[in-house]
Amino acid sequence: MRIQNYINGQFVAPANGRYFDNVAPASGEVYGTIPESGSEDVNRAIEAAKKAFPLWSALTATQRSTHMLRVAQRIEERLDELAAAESKDNGKPLKLATRVDIPRARDNFAFYATAILHEASETHDMGAQGFNYTLRRPIGVVACISPWNLPLYLFTWKIAPALAAGNTVVAKPSEVTPATAYLLSQILDEVGFPAGVLNIVHGTGPAVGEPLVSHPEVPVISFTGGTATGARISQIAAPMFKKLSLELGGKNPNLIFADCDFEKMLRTTLQSSFANQGQICLCGSRILVERPLYDRFVAEFVQRVKTLQVGRPEDPATQVGAVVSKDHQAKILHYIQLAQEEGGTVQCGGHAVQVEGLEGGFYVAPTVITGLSMHCRTNQEEIFGPVVTIQAFDTVEEGLSLANATKYGLAATVWTQNLRRAHHVASEVHCGIVWVNNWLVRDLRTPFGGVKASGIGREGGFEALRFFTEPKNIYIDLG
Ligand code: NAD
Repeated sequence: MRIQNYINGQFVAPANGRYFDNVAPASGEVYGTIPESGSEDVNRAIEAAKKAFPLWSALTATQRSTHMLRVAQRIEERLDELAAAESKDNGKPLKLATRVDIPRARDNFAFYATAILHEASETHDMGAQGFNYTLRRPIGVVACISPWNLPLYLFTWKIAPALAAGNTVVAKPSEVTPATAYLLSQILDEVGFPAGVLNIVHGTGPAVGEPLVSHPEVPVISFTGGTATGARISQIAAPMFKKLSLELGGKNPNLIFADCDFEKMLRTTLQSSFANQGQICLCGSRILVERPLYDRFVAEFVQRVKTLQVGRPEDPATQVGAVVSKDHQAKILHYIQLAQEEGGTVQCGGHAVQVEGLEGGFYVAPTVITGLSMHCRTNQEEIFGPVVTIQAFDTVEEGLSLANATKYGLAATVWTQNLRRAHHVASEVHCGIVWVNNWLVRDLRTPFGGVKASGIGREGGFEALRFFTEPKNIYIDLG
């Protein structure tokens, strides 16, 4: 697949004519090329988005909605092809891409295409004295930058509300997984999406992301990715007073109490630990278990983890596919080594896996580590792979203090049948999202995001539409 940029409704090569290789994580083979774009391409895309803004923002919500619903419909029609491309580009099991990633990309477009129809401006009743109301207006050209773990899912999660609210967009997918963003540009072309409204520029963070976020004509940035990159973007954007939404890293705790529904908890914890090879920002990587349940949990959890099928992403029996790149595989293995140096015991996994016929692929065995303190690097730093640690706690307060002992604060799960305790723990754990007795139950209407080093702001539902608009309060005196 030779990927091209999509600027002003045209497929274009990067201005410098350079491309780099796209590697399939499952096999390690090069299977395509990616434009190595730079600031010239970014400037062209911003110019196109600026030109398209007056027209797009002047459309009625219903007209914008109609355009966006056509995109949703076409994603649905090309679902199998998109899922296969996502699985090939990312290494994730094909069944995951088919059941989760691509349906969710369709839903993102459909949800915001219809949500915008329910947006209403506010009035602030002042009786006969005056008329006081607040308009919400689109802002202009929005930058959307997304990571590689849920490529089309997260790309569309920012683009859709930005467009629905009446902005035009310059979007940059991760250079590690650009394929489905390119297929999305084909879809825009197929459905006759208005030129310049959504522009997609491929390339690296420093060469494309930085010129995009530092451009004076881009007042709004929605970014999902690592915390260090979020800090760099804030550094650039703050002196320019740009509006920022940052969805960053996590080191999420699972708080498991002895009175939980053990079987449901075990099944779900297997998922929350290793789904998408542990490469979901919402995966629980620190499992905290109340002391009376600790030994039983470790024994049964490790036994189940050992049965997880690591293998070829297209195989329907595969539960754990390839991690996204050779560098990422090396990073994960390095953390496993570090955990042992820090005194941890590897209960299972702990090594790379060779899949027959795909010897060049990047696989890591699901890994469970015990015996570490909360303050070691393994428990403080985001690994973002199929690696979890388990620790015991004795009291609710100790469990909470372990849960809150990192700089991150994205999500947590709580497992207990005690309603009073569930409420208490859910309210005291420092993070943006808590699931009690489940994991990853996502409803697009709810606010999504983290606290502390996990980010700033919330996306999802009307929160995202608010973020992508500027409120203007108007008072008309009737006296
Ligand atoms: P990353 O920060 O390396 O890259 C994310 C995106 O930013 C990519 O498109 C990249 O090219 C771009 N980028 C890199 N440097 C840039 C710069 N200087 N200026 C502008 N853009 C730049 O992250 P990643 O490795 O692709 O993704 C993994 C990270 O994403 C993990 O930390 C994970 O927790 C996080 N994540 C967070 C959420 C969330 O909702 N909170 C969701 C998914 C992933």
